[in-house]
Amino acid sequence: MRNKTQFYINGTWVNPIRANDFDVINPADESVCATISLGSEADTNLAVSAAKNALVTWGVSSKEERIEVLEALYSIYKRRWSDMAEAISLEMGAPIDFASNAQTGSGAGHIKTFIKKLRTFEFEKPLGDHAPDNRLVYEPKGVCALITPWNWPINQVTLKVIPAIATGCTMVLKPSEIAPLSSMVFAEMIDEAGLPDGVFNLVNGDGAGVGSQLSAHPDVDMVSFTGSTRAGALISHNAADDFKRIGLELGGKGANIIFADADGDAVERGVKHCFNNTGQSCNAPTRMLVQRSIYEQSVTKAQAVAAQTSVDLPAKQGDHMGPVVSQLQFDKIQNLIQQGIDEKATLVAGGVGKPEGFETGYFVKPTIFSDVNNQMAIAQTEIFGPVLSMIPFEDEEDAIAIANDTCFGLTNYIQTKDANKAKRIAKQLRSGMVEINGSNLCAGSPFGGYKHSGIGREGGVLGLEEFLEVKVISGWK
Ligand code: NAD
Repeated sequence: MRNKTQFYINGTWVNPIRANDFDVINPADESVCATISLGSEADTNLAVSAAKNALVTWGVSSKEERIEVLEALYSIYKRRWSDMAEAISLEMGAPIDFASNAQTGSGAGHIKTFIKKLRTFEFEKPLGDHAPDNRLVYEPKGVCALITPWNWPINQVTLKVIPAIATGCTMVLKPSEIAPLSSMVFAEMIDEAGLPDGVFNLVNGDGAGVGSQLSAHPDVDMVSFTGSTRAGALISHNAADDFKRIGLELGGKGANIIFADADGDAVERGVKHCFNNTGQSCNAPTRMLVQRSIYEQSVTKAQAVAAQTSVDLPAKQGDHMGPVVSQLQFDKIQNLIQQGIDEKATLVAGGVGKPEGFETGYFVKPTIFSDVNNQMAIAQTEIFGPVLSMIPFEDEEDAIAIANDTCFGLTNYIQTKDANKAKRIAKQLRSGMVEINGSNLCAGSPFGGYKHSGIGREGGVLGLEEFLEVKVISGWK
């Protein structure tokens, strides 16, 4: 068991002011794999004060200085790749190959892309040809509170920490208390990279404690949060009194619209995507909307994919599915599966209970419901587990109406060989992202949602601008 009870404040690892141990649970066997501390208000204040002091110099640091430190961090990250992958696999149960390739890989991708965008970002430029003596100046927003979830832990951390560093902000990171180990490895890397003291600080804690203290702190200028819609609303209220900027990346209930003219792999691709990361992705295509004429055959195809999906231990290599993160998530998923059965959706794969041979650990059966209508709880609630709902639709108009009939608006998916139809529909979907025919969004794409899926965008140039204030100065000769 690892002792990880220290915080990283002002360039050093320090003990919490008051001991408040918290167990980190390995979701594969329910054992305690590490102990962290949950910080108190005094710890939060120390970290915010360090960030505020560091802003005086880091806020006016040069672009070259920031690039240098980010490049050093990138080299260290690549060197310690396996440490990162092991921490992620242990804390949240991702199978080791997935933890390495997808999860750790996403962090490396963000560091690399932000360095590239930073190189060409203009922090000062003329307003336009019509106003050569009006200068636009982009300045750091200030002290940022970065609050992250457990499902893609280092993906979320790098989407916030890297642009904050790149724009001259200083920060306090509060990772998920459920999966804090990857962030602590990351803090070690930052320490080695030689970022000036106080620019980056890490305090562990829970939402009610450190999370709320940060979002209400008078010296915090911005809160960048990824997590549940519930916590996003609480943070918005908390941050409103002194007009902090907030960036919120929240939940989703993505529709995957499969037309009769879709390619032959569309159903299989959709099921696998839904089960990816054990269904614990905010952009998962959890509602498969299938055109009526191919509905029955698609259900049979989906059922076969679920039957081929193996569940196994995270430590084993391979492309199997690991456990979900916690007892709490396990219980929530079980309740929703039962609700689907009670609401008379047809269970075609999986169901309640654990897969055979996995009585210990938070393992869930890959589950598919057919005959779902969009009003059912399983179609409206973000389940955050490997549970797919298959909903029939008649035509284009019907598909768009069902897809948009949700409080969320993160990512939607379209499968059709008719390019014009795909483009026409993509423009009518109320979501921040649309993916056509399995084509991935490229590095540097803005990530974020409409409606209850959040406010703001992460990644790429827009992800840098999130952390900047804009000033215009006239009379600039
Ligand atoms: P969560 O909201 O419970 O916790 C996320 C983080 O917020 C944790 O660090 C937690 O300690 C903190 N927190 C909780 N309540 C808080 C409060 N009142 N004030 C301040 N901080 C608080 O979410 P989770 O269970 O860790 O993550 C799963 C959720 O995150 C899902 O709903 C998922 O869709 C969402 N998510 C969204 C995205 C996205 O980019 N849109 C990405 C990943 C996860």
